[in-house]
Amino acid sequence: MKKFNLSLSFLFIFLICAYNSNCEQKKVALIGTGYVGLIAGAGLADKGHKIVCVDIDAKKIADLNNGIMPIYEPGLQDLINKNQENICFTTDIRKAVNDSEIIIIAVGTPTDENYESDLRALNAVANSIGKVLQDSDDYKVICIKSTVPVGTNYKIKDLIKTYTDKNNFDMVSNPEFLRAGSAIKDLYEKNPILIGSDSEKALDIMEELYDPFIKNGITLIKSKDFATAEMAKYAWNSLVAVKVSYVNELSRFCNSCNADLFKVIETISFGDSVLPFKSVRPGPGLGGSCLPKDTRAFLKMANVRGVDLSIIKTVIEASDLQQEYVVNQLYSLLSVSEDLNSSDCVKDKSIAILGLSFKANTDDIRISPAIKIIELLLQKGANIKAYDPQATENMRKLFPNITYCNSVMQAVDCVDAIVALTDWKDIKNMDFKVVSQLVKNKIIVDVRNMFDPAILIANGFKFANLGRR
Ligand code: NAD
Repeated sequence: MKKFNLSLSFLFIFLICAYNSNCEQKKVALIGTGYVGLIAGAGLADKGHKIVCVDIDAKKIADLNNGIMPIYEPGLQDLINKNQENICFTTDIRKAVNDSEIIIIAVGTPTDENYESDLRALNAVANSIGKVLQDSDDYKVICIKSTVPVGTNYKIKDLIKTYTDKNNFDMVSNPEFLRAGSAIKDLYEKNPILIGSDSEKALDIMEELYDPFIKNGITLIKSKDFATAEMAKYAWNSLVAVKVSYVNELSRFCNSCNADLFKVIETISFGDSVLPFKSVRPGPGLGGSCLPKDTRAFLKMANVRGVDLSIIKTVIEASDLQQEYVVNQLYSLLSVSEDLNSSDCVKDKSIAILGLSFKANTDDIRISPAIKIIELLLQKGANIKAYDPQATENMRKLFPNITYCNSVMQAVDCVDAIVALTDWKDIKNMDFKVVSQLVKNKIIVDVRNMFDPAILIANGFKFANLGRR
């Protein structure tokens, strides 16, 4: 029995060792030991990686070496104390970069007087890294955690390349979503890890770095480019800002009519769970009998009461702009293909409009985006061939003189371009092998992101969609 227990203990120790050896320890330099750098460093040290935190602020580094935290954040001091063997602090950037496989940059990027990001600290760090890479053959992943404008990773890559042509580094964008006051909780329990890079190798190394967090249930989102990751940070913060500002607007409206904001928030949060953000998709703008009508009515009521609902006003304008954007996408595809000026590129051209109702599975065309899109195209002299499985008769009352078709194939036959507006099943499932034989000019604007770009490319289409690569 004793022998059996002993074997079990060995097996247990073996399993723990095997698990830990899977979480490969990395050597990481975290440059910029401010709020973000310190918390990221402490979290990574806690997962067993060897972290050297670098800063130009010698007093900050001296304090950290004496156990004095430069910021207050619940749990931070304990986390650093607990992981002292894995984390150290220095002002020596050269040695830190030399000794590390991964370099994470978390310096400040404040806004300058023109509301542009001040990237002087980031550029200074990139110059220092470049000088180290010049003298080293080791491969390094250089990761920007600071919030930076779209395109910055490419610029920093080019800057570092002025020091070395050895191809001994790759860039990764890895923006931070922590919130002051709950940063440690966010790091361990909530926030996703987003990494974007043009290098598979660098993405794999970063995935290994974050593996202990991922194993604990944190979501990893990987993108094969920098721009997605760079812009996602701004999109995240801007959405939070929109929510807060909307509630502020509602509070002003509530004051004007003695309504209870807290009951309003409680109620609309149910609507929020019916359409969670992750299921919102782009399209041709607001349509149907409710959203366009009620947003306009809400704005009108607010105007009468002297309340400024500027977010609602912008929402209405943004919806109108979306239809113009769709038409402009068509113009740019056609004008390039036909080598024409974009303002008269649809004149006398035959355009198939697929889907007329404001969404699939209804014949409702009230404020359907198709109406404005058809109007804009008619104004420019286009000939419209329209198809919808259910809404044709309703649309005929508004536009009696355009051509209505009985099927997708009839609508696309001999047209110069297709604008697919509604994701009806037969539109979504159209066979591009057949369609490509019918259309004169293989151009399609996919307003619902219904079609696989690979299939469109394989069938020779030039296409535009909404935000899908
Ligand atoms: P911070 O000002 O607290 O820290 C930046 C640190 O970088 C400072 O300690 C500074 O001395 C150091 N530094 C500046 N130049 C340096 C150089 N050349 N070499 C080494 N160190 C240098 O900034 P922060 O709040 O940690 O923000 C860092 C980045 O993360 C910013 O881009 C910010 O927008 C973003 N961010 C911040 C938060 C937040 O809540 N603070 C959250 C998410 C993302």
